[in-house]
Amino acid sequence: MARIAVIGAGMGAMAAAARLAVAGHRVTVYERSETFGGSVGRYAHEGFAFDTGPTLLHLPAVYRDLFVKTGKEPLERCVTMTQVDPASRHIFADGTTVSLPNASRAGVVAALDAALGGGAGAVWGEFLDRARDAWDRSRRPLLEEPLRSDWQVLGRDPYPALRQRRLLRSARQAGTVAEVGAWELSDPRLAALFDGYALSYGLDPLRAPAAAALLPYMEETFGSWYVSGGIRALAQAVYERCLARKVEFVFGGEVARVVEKDGRAAGVELLDGTVAEAGHVVLGARPNPGLVPGQELWRDGDVAVQPGQGVVPGRFLVLLSLRGARPADAVHRTLVHPADGASEREAVFGGRLADRPTVTVLRPDDPSTRPDDAHEAVTLMATVAPHGAVDWTDAALRERCTDALIEAASAAMPGIRERLLHAEVRTPAETAADTGAEGGSVPAPALAGARGAYLHPGNRTRLPGLYAAGGWSHPGGGLAHAGMSGALVAGLIVEGDGFRGSQ
Ligand SMILES: Cc1cc2nc3c(=O)[nH]c(=O)nc-3n(C[C@H](O)[C@H](O)[C@H](O)COP(=O)(O)OP(=O)(O)OC[C@H]3O[C@@H](n4cnc5c(N)ncnc54)[C@H](O)[C@@H]3O)c2cc1C
Repeated sequence: MARIAVIGAGMGAMAAAARLAVAGHRVTVYERSETFGGSVGRYAHEGFAFDTGPTLLHLPAVYRDLFVKTGKEPLERCVTMTQVDPASRHIFADGTTVSLPNASRAGVVAALDAALGGGAGAVWGEFLDRARDAWDRSRRPLLEEPLRSDWQVLGRDPYPALRQRRLLRSARQAGTVAEVGAWELSDPRLAALFDGYALSYGLDPLRAPAAAALLPYMEETFGSWYVSGGIRALAQAVYERCLARKVEFVFGGEVARVVEKDGRAAGVELLDGTVAEAGHVVLGARPNPGLVPGQELWRDGDVAVQPGQGVVPGRFLVLLSLRGARPADAVHRTLVHPADGASEREAVFGGRLADRPTVTVLRPDDPSTRPDDAHEAVTLMATVAPHGAVDWTDAALRERCTDALIEAASAAMPGIRERLLHAEVRTPAETAADTGAEGGSVPAPALAGARGAYLHPGNRTRLPGLYAAGGWSHPGGGLAHAGMSGALVAGLIVEGDGFRGSQ
């Protein structure tokens, strides 16, 4: 039995903590804020309540596995999860609207055929077949195993792009999301659909590898799940599972540095100078340069932090308290696509404000989000440039962006302005405060391809005894991926460096 210090109480860190405690270790989580969950927060105002981070879960198997491996009560007994159906509605710039059913390939194909015509359903269905290959080839050796030392083999894109015949003899194959859209999906609305998936994970469609196709595959195959009480209820359940396994939490416990002794991690030092000794340390937050004095956690040869993405974007949220009931036929999630996706991409990844962003409108059918049935809580979300590139504390800028989101959302909810009681705005500046991540950036899931530029640093660091979990390490960001990182770190500590992922 070893003492283990975990830095941060985000989802990846808590997933690691619960598993390590079950393996018999004494685990203490040091969290700089006064609560658990990190990005997975909740904002409540006069009877309305909103998630301030992710709002849907797409790979529940990761958390089911965590609950099975750490106790008797399965996940479904700890939280109420329902599949959102339709999974999403899309409003394209030309006014076309389509609702995609949840976890039904045939249903999605039929819906696209009916709404877009021209065999669009079959084109998307064939794309998803290729996306399934990308998923199958990514599960191992990318997602379910620690990052291999010869990670360069993951530089090849697992998406089997179609060979496009050209006039001259040479053939070309799509290498990026945008190229898949232009060369394989043909219909600009299907291309906008794929772009929208990539952007919602913080990926630039112009540069992200075609392997990002596994993201729509994942969502459309394993479903979109809503947790009653919001994703915060999932974080609460993971926290309670940690407590049940005797994990200790020190809130208000910001770690200033990792203590090093005889060339290995030997504990943590808090801001107030308190030192806690530990046999292993798990870093569950974005590493900052001073955390391990004089030590590089990873070197170039170990995969740098998201080198493929110069700008790692964040999210802009408008939390709307509305008068008037939620209509029974309201769709949970609607994406309103812009006319000019290219200029949105240029703005977000060029570090500027987009005039007309892709906006996700979220209308959960959950009484716990509203004071009564004569009111509705609605969240608007867009992917935006991080704080620093844009000054998200500038009141005029916040207002302009809020207005752009509400304007776009009007296509999904006509009359939204007239129903408005209160609008709370959350920008990357607030995310930075919640997570400690510079700029309030939100890490994207790791992807193979692009010569490894979309991989994340491995869970082992250069300092023996120091491991990394959560969205900034392998296999990247997002609820599901962070949960996987927790399993990998626990495996490496419990089973040692030979651990190759659970079967
Ligand atoms: C607005 C928003 C929307 C998102 N939308 C989605 C989505 O739709 N789908 C999806 O899958 N994912 C989404 N994500 C990402 C997802 O929430 C995270 O990737 C996931 O929760 C994993 O987080 P993490 O484990 O990396 O920890 P984080 O959430 O980053 O938390 C890190 C924790 O560490 C603490 N900490 C930092 N430094 C220290 C220190 N020195 N000492 C002590 N504690 C410290 C922080 O206070 C924080 O609690 C979203 C995130 C945000 C912010």
